Amino acid sequence: MIDAHLHVDLLNPAFLKRLAPDVVGNPRNMAEALGKEMAEAGITQALAMGREQGTDEDPLGIRGTLEVARFVPGLHPVGVADCCRTDSAHMGRAEEELRQRRVKALKVYAGYTPAGPDDPTYWPYYQLADRYGLPVIVHTGDTPVARAKVRFAHPLLVDEVAVEFPAVRFVMAHFGYPWLTDAAEVVYKNDNVWVDLSGLLMGDRDFFEDPARDKMLGRLVERVAEALDYMGKPDRVLYGTDWPLVPMRAYRDFIHRIIPEENWSMVFEENARKLFAL
Ligand SMILES: [Zn+2]
Repeated sequence: MIDAHLHVDLLNPAFLKRLAPDVVGNPRNMAEALGKEMAEAGITQALAMGREQGTDEDPLGIRGTLEVARFVPGLHPVGVADCCRTDSAHMGRAEEELRQRRVKALKVYAGYTPAGPDDPTYWPYYQLADRYGLPVIVHTGDTPVARAKVRFAHPLLVDEVAVEFPAVRFVMAHFGYPWLTDAAEVVYKNDNVWVDLSGLLMGDRDFFEDPARDKMLGRLVERVAEALDYMGKPDRVLYGTDWPLVPMRAYRDFIHRIIPEENWSMVFEENARKLFAL
């Protein structure tokens, strides 16, 4: 199975709560923690989102991921499209990185950065994605960061760029939650948009197993399943967790409740394998 959305290089302490303190900033320990959960959940390949801002030496913010990937076979970096850096020198360095073919997609942290995916500052990155045949993953929906501006993360902004760049394949991370119907419509209408099911919830194992939450989880399962039903395109749905924000096995079991069993192989593996050429 493939986890199409996780993180091994996070800076925000709120996102690192589930990890032991000696894991943060230590690639070998991070790899061990991740590898253990991947094995438990049956995950063999995963895409790790890059760090929000790159540097001259690391234009797509993937260095932290590459350090962990040395110890985790099947872990691939996703480069970050930094809307604040689009000068030709930076874009040249970004292209140099893409030429090495290690990066499997680009990531737009919409909302976390004050620009929607439709902002023209991102366009040089979409041109690169087009040239190198790489999908672009866009954060859509809620963020737990109060300073983020959530209107920039609305799924309808992905429709804008999906139309402008018909040759680029876009992934709306987190299914645009809570704008599920809007996200479903964008996939229904466009031939070049996918969704991932990562990060619909945040919590530890107790959170998922607490009987007091069962009703709430059941309602969420119904709402997501209804939106997927409306969308009617199971071949455009990707499994992802947003690890370390959730435990891998508990999250897999939660998504099992949403996806009809006959679509598991597509959603948990084949769709990502095709989209990211894994
Ligand atoms: Zn994420």
